[in-house]
Amino acid sequence: MPGPIISLVMRVIVFSSKQWDRTYLGEAFADRPHQLTFVETHLDAATAPLADGHDVACLFVNDHADAAALDALHRSGVRAIVLRCAGFNNVDLAAAERLDVPVLRVPAYSPHSVAEHAVALTLAIMRRVHRAYTRTRDGNFALDGLLGRELHGCTVGVVGTGEIGRVVARIFRGFGCSVLASDPFPDAELAAEPGIDYVPIDELLASSDVITLHCPLTPETYHLVDADAIERMRPGAILINTSRGAVVDAPALIDGIKAERLGGVALDVYEEEGDVFFEDVSSRVLHDDVLARLTSFPNVLITSHQAFFTREAITQIAATTRANVDALAAGDLPERNRVLADAAVAK
Ligand code: NAD
Repeated sequence: MPGPIISLVMRVIVFSSKQWDRTYLGEAFADRPHQLTFVETHLDAATAPLADGHDVACLFVNDHADAAALDALHRSGVRAIVLRCAGFNNVDLAAAERLDVPVLRVPAYSPHSVAEHAVALTLAIMRRVHRAYTRTRDGNFALDGLLGRELHGCTVGVVGTGEIGRVVARIFRGFGCSVLASDPFPDAELAAEPGIDYVPIDELLASSDVITLHCPLTPETYHLVDADAIERMRPGAILINTSRGAVVDAPALIDGIKAERLGGVALDVYEEEGDVFFEDVSSRVLHDDVLARLTSFPNVLITSHQAFFTREAITQIAATTRANVDALAAGDLPERNRVLADAAVAK
């Protein structure tokens, strides 16, 4: 495979950029000659020509780097992709390899950012914090409907024990929970800790009071939580998803909540989030009936992909993104940050 591009000065187009990208990437690149162009547009095949004259496309979670978009980027002169996130399910890696376009990501940045958000969502659902917040602002100080449950003594199922899942498991242990874990590659150190047991996914589903998802989106994990999985859960189980939306079949969730099979759900990610998350659509009619129904339940809490969004995490994301662009400029492809079509290598 030919080496990467490159020149000392990289022209980088930053798709799906927000004010915080301008701030944090701006600071991280302040002492470098690279040129950054910020566009708010999501990447897809139609918007890829915006990259004309750039060497590198910097992408985020809702950019669609499918084969057509990658072809169009390549025709525009882009020779490398840098992801300012850990997940890479939105990039057709095989197509990128065919085009000799290397893909670099931020493999790890404060796993505490996502882990703590998952725990915050769990506590909010269990203690009805989201309901109390809106009620007291409206002068309603009654406790009816706010009866909570304690985490202490609960069994928490952690699906995926990579960087984030391991932190989550240890935080829940601190609350006095038993942890059941499921991962095709169990972590030996975690497995040796008291109160943490690796079990098959079926046992995790059947025995957990809270199930929290921390696996990547892959063909194997697509709709991992579907109607059948919900049916196998403990009645009243609470589901937390901070991984990727499509790990959960959202219409099946609605059925599970209506049947009072699920006791509560918190989602930081949603399969069709691309059209609305990160945007203020409060003045528009919401066209997504599934999302609208989900927001209508009292025991559902939705945050719009904000688990990563801490000062610490975005500082690290910006620093690694700069390191990735520097590496490309120097003709290097840092192995740890590179994503290859071979999933084993990518893991
Ligand atoms: P990681 O690669 O360190 O860990 C993922 C773990 O999931 C690995 O141990 C892997 O073996 C395991 N896994 C793979 N397939 C599985 C399956 N079928 N069942 C159970 N486990 C499985 O990744 P990470 O840094 O811990 O991040 C996890 C995921 O969280 C990312 O892939 C990303 O989708 C998501 N994420 C979300 C946000 C957010 O803001 N909401 C931010 C960062 C990451």
